[in-house]
Amino acid sequence: MSGKKREQIQRSDSEWREALTPEQFHVLREKGTERAFTGAYVDRHDPTTYVCAGCGQELFDSRQKYDSGSGWPSFYAAADPAGIETDTDSAHGMVRTEVHCARCGGHLGHVFNDGPEPTGLRYCINSASLRAEPLKK
Ligand code: FE
Repeated sequence: MSGKKREQIQRSDSEWREALTPEQFHVLREKGTERAFTGAYVDRHDPTTYVCAGCGQELFDSRQKYDSGSGWPSFYAAADPAGIETDTDSAHGMVRTEVHCARCGGHLGHVFNDGPEPTGLRYCINSASLRAEPLKK
């Protein structure tokens, strides 16, 4: 992803453990994945801004959220493309594109090429990596 470099947030593992719940820590800092259909935001569609549960940066919002049927919150675009970055993830015998917060590096989920128009992308994001706030803008 292109875009301006943001101020970076760096914390030690022990600082993150103190700041996050065990589930948030597992997803954000250990690239964990919550079980499908268990996350708090899978079926949420009211006007919402989703910020990073690690650092509070705005990541996604309800206007790009859709029901993918996957069991994870799904978005066809980020609220601000500069808010996220991607990496190649070869874990678990698959090659996927990992998505993380550009500011704190927290793992969010993966992006796939089977999303709806206008982007054709599906950002498959763990609820545990997000915090819901009233829609901004
Ligand atoms: Fe973050």
